[in-house]
Amino acid sequence: MYASMTELHELHEMRENIRRGVDALELCWSCQRVSDCEQTVVDDAAPVWLCRECRGKLRAQAQPDPGTLLWPSPC
Ligand SMILES: [Zn+2]
Repeated sequence: MYASMTELHELHEMRENIRRGVDALELCWSCQRVSDCEQTVVDDAAPVWLCRECRGKLRAQAQPDPGTLLWPSPC
């Protein structure tokens, strides 16, 4: 039993949609470039997709000075 032309067309469309979805996910939210992105949580907000470069920048901003404690130690 083989698939009809309509079914083949639907499968093709489905595959295109998935590819578009994946492309959208890998568009960096910060610099708008498509690259190898990772889901990153910014300021406890919803996770966004950021490329390695923007994640590095974000991390540099998030950590003011090495050795400086953000919160007083509980001990
Ligand atoms: Zn980026």
